[in-house]
Amino acid sequence: MGAPRVVLLMSPATYRAGAFLGAAERLGLEVVQGIDLPESLTEYWHVPLGLDFTRPELAAADLVAYAREHPVAAILSVDDSATLVAAQASAALGLPHNDPGAALAARDKLVMRERLAAAGVPVPPFRPYPATADPAAIAATVAYPCVVKPLRLSGSRGVIRADNAAEFVAAFERTRAMLFAEGYAPAETQLLVEQFVPGVEVALEGLLTGGRMQVLALFDKPDPLDGPFFEETIYVTPSRLPSATQDAIARRTAQAAAALGLREGPIHVELRVNAEGVWPIELAGRSIGGLCSSILEFGTGVTLEELILRHAVGLPLPSTERAGEAGGVMMIPIPKRGILRGIGGQDEAARVPGITGVEITAKLNHPLMPLPEGASYLGFIFARGHTPAQVEAALRAAHARLSFRIEPAIMLSVSSQ
Ligand code: ADP
Ligand code: CA
Repeated sequence: MGAPRVVLLMSPATYRAGAFLGAAERLGLEVVQGIDLPESLTEYWHVPLGLDFTRPELAAADLVAYAREHPVAAILSVDDSATLVAAQASAALGLPHNDPGAALAARDKLVMRERLAAAGVPVPPFRPYPATADPAAIAATVAYPCVVKPLRLSGSRGVIRADNAAEFVAAFERTRAMLFAEGYAPAETQLLVEQFVPGVEVALEGLLTGGRMQVLALFDKPDPLDGPFFEETIYVTPSRLPSATQDAIARRTAQAAAALGLREGPIHVELRVNAEGVWPIELAGRSIGGLCSSILEFGTGVTLEELILRHAVGLPLPSTERAGEAGGVMMIPIPKRGILRGIGGQDEAARVPGITGVEITAKLNHPLMPLPEGASYLGFIFARGHTPAQVEAALRAAHARLSFRIEPAIMLSVSSQ
């Protein structure tokens, strides 16, 4: 018998491939990458397993056909884009996985809110609206502050806070314009409008096995996320919140995962904490994004991806106690739109005590788009330290050493003559 084969579903632009491929190699697993590509390009590039994630049913059927020829032990979606495909194909093949309904609830923000509310999990008042609706008419009926968001994007794209009717109209128009530009059909698209939940935000990394959740890491997000856009910046673990609050966060997360029907595999969950309690903002059926997982290490040098792959193929799990001291990452936000012409201070940033890595992922001479439309970061800064406060300070000091020269893109106007 050969090594167990695992299919990893990923978009071509994912930051996550390297960490998963490295973990699979250490575990002696054979990996097949299922890459999101339209059919025509799959043939053109000779990709062994190209799948069109924009058509989940079709992609799942193609994947099932592939797996019947090449038996697989597990199918994993590396990022949000293919969690539905993974769940549908796994169900058809009888592989252990979340059921497709739960995967949908963790992917679609409206289904998520409905399921959480139905199970009595506290959620802010919410309501979907057709993207073609007249925002001025809705604006008069909404309680402020509120948040406008798309149902199925990630990375805070299109998520905008509005404090009054004028801001609401602008936010609604901006988010829907972005969705239409991405090819969403106006008549079939909805926007979610929900009350703004004040408070501090945390992110919980968990692993579900048969419906039981283990907390792998709890991150504080020390930069205030008050809008109007919600760019991720600093994540630091362990959390500095009181242990009673951390317990409440873990309980709320387990309750929310159960409400969605999530039972197997990694979850990445954002929650807000305020005087009224702990509010789930979003649950995703995947692990932490970007290159952030590299700051986590479990037991004796086990990575997050190794834990996830072990769980997926049914290997015994080593200790899920987080090893080491405090760790943190800063996702470097894109400050403005333009073309990236120069990057400075990388060496100085890397020399800041506590900094373990500075990785610039944006490419020189390529266009940059900030939130709410943009979908990437300039890069990542990683740090370790004795305390979370030291880690946070190191990340801020390193970021201050970096400089990015972003010049306006020159728009060539095409004359009609
Ligand atoms: P995405 O899938 O794009 O990450 P989220 O729903 O998680 O979308 O929203 C992104 C961020 O926006 C959250 O992490 C949070 O900071 C903020 N946010 C979203 N909804 C709310 C809300 N109802 N109240 C307060 N902040 C919110
Ligand atoms: Ca989110």
